[in-house]
Amino acid sequence: MSSALAAMADSLDTELRIRPTDPRLFAIADRVVAGERLSPADALALFESDDLIGIGALADAVNRQKNGDRVFVCANQHLNPTNVCILRATCTFCSFARTPREDGAYTMTLEEAFHEASLASDTPVREFHIVGGLHPKLRVSYYEDLIRGLKERHPGVEIKALTAVEIAHLARIEKSSVEDVLIRLREAGMQTMPGGGAEVFAKGVRASIAQRKLAAEEWIDVHRKAHGLGIRTNCTLLYGHVESLQDRVDHLGMLRELQDETGGFLTYIPLAYHPDNNELGEALGRTGTATTGFDDLKNLAIGRLYLDNIPHIKTHWIMNTAMVSQIALHFGVDDLEGTVRRERIYHEAGAHTPEGMTFGEIVRLVKDAGKRPVERNVHYDEVRSW
Ligand code: SF4
Repeated sequence: MSSALAAMADSLDTELRIRPTDPRLFAIADRVVAGERLSPADALALFESDDLIGIGALADAVNRQKNGDRVFVCANQHLNPTNVCILRATCTFCSFARTPREDGAYTMTLEEAFHEASLASDTPVREFHIVGGLHPKLRVSYYEDLIRGLKERHPGVEIKALTAVEIAHLARIEKSSVEDVLIRLREAGMQTMPGGGAEVFAKGVRASIAQRKLAAEEWIDVHRKAHGLGIRTNCTLLYGHVESLQDRVDHLGMLRELQDETGGFLTYIPLAYHPDNNELGEALGRTGTATTGFDDLKNLAIGRLYLDNIPHIKTHWIMNTAMVSQIALHFGVDDLEGTVRRERIYHEAGAHTPEGMTFGEIVRLVKDAGKRPVERNVHYDEVRSW
């Protein structure tokens, strides 16, 4: 072992406050402390174990070594320009999408989108997070004008926009390449991309919950191309529906592999499935039963341990609740999302959390967990801390 690795292992051993009690995790804990990469079999053993405290302690030690006591937060606002989506009939887990003539369908004009963006002016917004449905008629020029208009109206604001699925859709309707769409959006002011649309990569699961959505390899390839153009992105896993534990491990393996190749992922965000107001929830008889705090914490902690090459792990408090998210700060998480403001997608699916939090509330959650809140920009540079 090199002296640098030995020093790292020593400090990780010091950080590890509690050892796992599940005998299946003893060797895994040794590998984590030695700074070795975990295997797919290790990840499966972690998912199968009920030793949540032991798993959390390992993830916490790794996180402390990487991020100290910092927790990143962000003054952001979600903007969903349309819920009209051509995949409305086949993404059975989605509560947000509508067909063009369905009740509740909407598509914002640019002026409506700018008005919505201005509503949170009481909290200075540093980042707009823009995602929506795959509208059959909106062209790239709409999103270029939207991004340029937001930048003009909110100087200094940063733009995280459009999932891989939306980018591929725009390339199809423009009859151009994914690269061309990415370059146009980047020139308009898009800085990073969110990680949605990955769902679960396993073919069988995708066929049953997102039949006509971009295939796993295509989702990966859009991110590869974005990384090649210098656009950093996030990645996700939608868990808690019909996927198996092995599907979760395989999914994380594909994310880790792309990160080894490009280094372009900034953040991993496990997304908890919400079963209200969608066909999948009804078919499973799961209406009103979201994922449990136990599974939410386990997914976050395993993300930290298995995705050893992705710097940040985020808890999406809108789905996981503010309380579970606060506890997650001791389970390997270093990013508590942000003020969010006007979240629609998960509230349509039954999320009971507020649509946004004030900075004061977020800072209090972080401080009460014994951590140091740090406001970040889209690239995780420190803007200010408390
Ligand atoms: S998950 Fe996305 S692509 Fe699928 S129906 Fe909903 S908005 Fe459309």
